[in-house]
Amino acid sequence: MQKGQIRVETENIFPIIKKFLYSDHEIFLRELVSNAVDASQKLKTLASNGEPTGDISDMRIDIVLDATEKTLSVIDRGVGMTQDEVDKYINQVAFSGAEEFMNKYKDANIIGHFGLGFYSSFMVSDKVEMYTKSYKDESGVYWSCDGSPEFELYAVDKADRGTKIVMHINEDSKEFLEADRIGKMLEKFCKFLPVPIFYEDKQI
Ligand code: ADP
Ligand code: MG
Repeated sequence: MQKGQIRVETENIFPIIKKFLYSDHEIFLRELVSNAVDASQKLKTLASNGEPTGDISDMRIDIVLDATEKTLSVIDRGVGMTQDEVDKYINQVAFSGAEEFMNKYKDANIIGHFGLGFYSSFMVSDKVEMYTKSYKDESGVYWSCDGSPEFELYAVDKADRGTKIVMHINEDSKEFLEADRIGKMLEKFCKFLPVPIFYEDKQI
């Protein structure tokens, strides 16, 4: 089990994320789906370069809404991440990138249009959990963060390759627990992607 602080100079960047991106909070879904597509495409590229990726014929992305649990999940069968990769790409890189951007464009209007990538999920979530398993022969990994700069990261059993992101939707964002609302957003953002996207057992 690894516990630590997300490396960021500002004491807590989450209130800044919420404030600046509030006007465009729908983008979190596009960001997470595009990460899932990227992860799937990366795996296809590795496979076509002769890397041992296992079976890649099952590639799909699933969006699952659980209104009772108040969660929205994005599940892919892409490259996945090792524990080191989660530490590097989620704890370090993604955050420092966001902070750099915030510092640079603090006073510009464009900030509202900027996609923060993975961290935009915190616009609508009290807590975000990730279960991931790399195509490499390494253990599955669990990561979670409740919107404070502290995260948890440890090895878990996960049978399937790929990544599942579970967003615990916050009180102010209840609209994203409505099935129709999510369906319409997916129609808007997720048409014509190179990986099939499924929502409520139907392909978008
Ligand atoms: P970007 O997509 O612009 O690189 P993000 O903040 O969206 O920035 O994601 C940061 C990094 O986290 C990605 O570059 C990737 O390495 C990793 N990542 C995020 N989501 C996934 C996923 N579903 N599967 C594998 N890796 C992921
Ligand atoms: Mg991204």
